[in-house]
Amino acid sequence: MVKVDVKYTKLFINNEFVDAVSKKTFPTINPQDETVIAQVAEGDKADVDKAVAAAKKAFHRYSTWRTMDASQRGLLMLKLADLIESQARYLAELETLDCGKPVKEAEFEVYYAVTVLRYYAGKADKILGSTIPADGEVLSFTLKEPVGVCAQIIPWNYPIPMMSWKIAPALAAGCTLIVKPAEQTPLTALAVAALVKEAGFPPGVINVIPGYGPTAGAALTHHPNVDKVAFTGSTEVGRIILGAASTVNLKRVTLELGGKSPLVVFNDADVEKAAQIAHAAAFANAGQCCCAGTRTYVQSGIYDQFVQKAAEIAKKRSVGNPFDDVQQGPQIDKDMYTRVLEYIEAGKASGAKCIAGGEKMGNKGFYIKPTVFADVKDDMKIAREEIFGPVQSIFKFDTFEEVIDRANDSNYGLGAGVVTNDITTALTFAKQIRSGSVWINTYDHVTSQTPFGGFKDSGLGRELGEEGINQYLECKTVTLSLPKVPQL
Ligand code: ADP
Repeated sequence: MVKVDVKYTKLFINNEFVDAVSKKTFPTINPQDETVIAQVAEGDKADVDKAVAAAKKAFHRYSTWRTMDASQRGLLMLKLADLIESQARYLAELETLDCGKPVKEAEFEVYYAVTVLRYYAGKADKILGSTIPADGEVLSFTLKEPVGVCAQIIPWNYPIPMMSWKIAPALAAGCTLIVKPAEQTPLTALAVAALVKEAGFPPGVINVIPGYGPTAGAALTHHPNVDKVAFTGSTEVGRIILGAASTVNLKRVTLELGGKSPLVVFNDADVEKAAQIAHAAAFANAGQCCCAGTRTYVQSGIYDQFVQKAAEIAKKRSVGNPFDDVQQGPQIDKDMYTRVLEYIEAGKASGAKCIAGGEKMGNKGFYIKPTVFADVKDDMKIAREEIFGPVQSIFKFDTFEEVIDRANDSNYGLGAGVVTNDITTALTFAKQIRSGSVWINTYDHVTSQTPFGGFKDSGLGRELGEEGINQYLECKTVTLSLPKVPQL
């Protein structure tokens, strides 16, 4: 077993690591073998109050942060990006220990988070309002101002990238933050917090409060001095947060929620290539990906060949110790592991044909064999509900019209993919599918520059790109009365 030094386990408030007011701690568990990695300070309402007070003070109009040049904000973000980059291997190992993803993927994700910070660092001094030709003897223009104190609630599936999606645009905009990492994966957020201090951010600008959702999370979403909540997680919790955010004040809300994304393969596709794209779409991060392409629709002309190929690829997928050179580690925790295995049983019971995997792997840790179901029907439970595990469902279709209707027949609308060489088919699909992202002959290609988010129950608002920073800005209109000009 690789030994990783866990250096930070306390709450981070006002640039200091502190115990919880209650002195309580909670264990963070290694999904490889269910051992306790470390006890972490458990934030609750009293700690949230302290963190929000720190963030509010840091947002005062005369604070160091608010009076700093926008370009200086960008430089601080670049410094943080450099520090994270310099510790990429350590952060990746810490992540793998805490959440079980293969260490080479964890390392890639750290570098990816660095690109997000750098992208938004460059935007800090390019936040522009507009001048408006308003009616009357006036001059009107807009100012784009930071929303204020932001609560950012992070999921466990991509802890460092999701933290970067949230903190980077918020910092560029000039907001102050309280980050709540998921209870399953608090360690890397705390390690990044140490770098926040080293980079030279003023106290209170970024605070990190590990803790549970219904306690620390709920305290943030109900807090009267929090101006905005950004959340990534399940649709179920997203609904709770949307409600909470409107109780004591009207918080701005962005939600990036669940999905049941379709990937459609047409007859003209190269079967081998299409099966590889579909496999990656379904199994990335052990299927623990909100935009995972778990509904694979294959046109009847290549269906049998495709199904055979998909099973072959899934059976070859290497699963094991995430510190080794594998494609898949364990699922995050016992709850998710049990839930995914129940879905697999439901798939078998409903008559779908299990052509790969279909069971747990080994007796220690939360490992599940990559599972493929063929001949799945649209009304089956595995076809409709988000599984969040390594399970691919394959459906047969005949015509374009039919598959668009079937692909759109979901409450979710996060991602969608199409594999075809016909540009008209590809672009017609892109236009008619109801989802926040569409990938053509690829899948899940999401970069700092490309907005990401969902239609329907998959979310509210967008992260990344220009859209991402707009979610952290208020638009203020200023109108100045001008003297009447003489008529010539
Ligand atoms: P998933 O379904 O991906 O396991 P959740 O949606 O349950 O994740 O949780 C994602 C994040 O939301 C975590 O940080 C979790 O602690 C937090 N959370 C869960 N429940 C609540 C809640 N009621 N209020 C605020 N945050 C919550």
